[in-house]
Amino acid sequence: MSKFENLKKQWESVMSCMGCGDCGYAIRPAVGRFLTCPIKEAKGEEGFEIWFSRGRMNVLKSILEEKLPLNKELAEFVYQCSECGNCTEVCHQTQNENIVLNTSKWIDHVEVWNALRKDLVEAGFAPLERHAILIEYMNTPEMRNPYGEPKIKKSDWVSEFSNIKEKSDLVFFGGCTMPLRQLDTLKNLMKILEQSGLEIAIADDEWCCGSIALRIGDEKAVLNSIKHNIEQFVAKGAQTVFTACAGCYRTLKKDYPELLGEELPFEVKHITEVLIDLLNNNQIPFNQQEIKPQKITYHDPCHLGRHMDLYEIPRELIASLPGVEIIEMKRNRKNAWCCGAGGGVKSQFADLALNISIERIEEATESGAEILTTSCPFCIGNLKDAYESMDEELKNKIKVIDLIDLIASKL
Ligand code: SF4
Ligand code: SF4
Repeated sequence: MSKFENLKKQWESVMSCMGCGDCGYAIRPAVGRFLTCPIKEAKGEEGFEIWFSRGRMNVLKSILEEKLPLNKELAEFVYQCSECGNCTEVCHQTQNENIVLNTSKWIDHVEVWNALRKDLVEAGFAPLERHAILIEYMNTPEMRNPYGEPKIKKSDWVSEFSNIKEKSDLVFFGGCTMPLRQLDTLKNLMKILEQSGLEIAIADDEWCCGSIALRIGDEKAVLNSIKHNIEQFVAKGAQTVFTACAGCYRTLKKDYPELLGEELPFEVKHITEVLIDLLNNNQIPFNQQEIKPQKITYHDPCHLGRHMDLYEIPRELIASLPGVEIIEMKRNRKNAWCCGAGGGVKSQFADLALNISIERIEEATESGAEILTTSCPFCIGNLKDAYESMDEELKNKIKVIDLIDLIASKL
């Protein structure tokens, strides 16, 4: 029998699942809930319990009772979960806000899934093939990013911007996806900050934040990166570190202090929190000559919304843009449908991630919006991949645009 020490610490959570099945079937129009688990719906295999939380919890009960061993086959199922956290929301929410379900109140599902992932890694049944490559790239000295690109590519654009200084109390953490896969968006962000008169610094040698390894359950692979990145930020004079990636934001703001067991010596902000301040101070020089009316809907990245409770600032930012009317999708905020990319799903199970994003784009189209935007490079990458696979009729109805590109188009 393999060890499962991390899972044992989640014993109370696992055993307190009462098997109600809301995490698979809840539809409550009155509170804006229309189903819960993107994996279960994308799989379309009605009744196959391990694709959603109730079945997963039952498997974990069997592991804890030593009736089922950890193994490689189990790992294949476990990693088909985007760790979106939607099961936590529905599990803690009843039809009536005056009814508190004590049995489910304390389950943090993402923590439970992570505990199992850590045990699978420690037992040698994970990482899965593709995940192992990403972690290897992340820890290769010449790369330090999961895309396997030379490290220098992450910052070879810096000299183009006059507002990037040697030191600043405001330090930008670029992450990996935007500089290596969405460079135009990153340059648009720098253009906005430069034209708004905001001076920033960038670490000389930034490493991947480690989000991918943490979601996979390989905590040991990240510990050096945490120390290194913090030293880099402090050396630049950081009072505030900000990032445009929802995954980096969660990792820096929540995981770093939790793993270190101490507060960080700086504040961590998401780009929308920086931009809203600039906008409220009238520092963003919008082009007032060509204001075009636009109906825009916003997709909540799971790592910003359910994981970090940042729902309203991105909406305030969008609603304050010249000419913009913000329209909500049927499922928004705590009930938002995941894009399908997180938790290592996009890298190991690309078609599954794509199918979930297709459903999200269809939902955005139904809202009547002409633009679907979001503020996470990982979400936008998956949504755009899905968009490219969709038919022309739909593409004529809606566009998928990063919030940064949207703002830059209005300068
Ligand atoms: S995880 Fe929560 S919502 Fe799902 S079956 Fe268990 S108690 Fe019900
Ligand atoms: S975290 Fe999301 S994908 Fe995973 S079981 Fe819960 S609802 Fe499904």
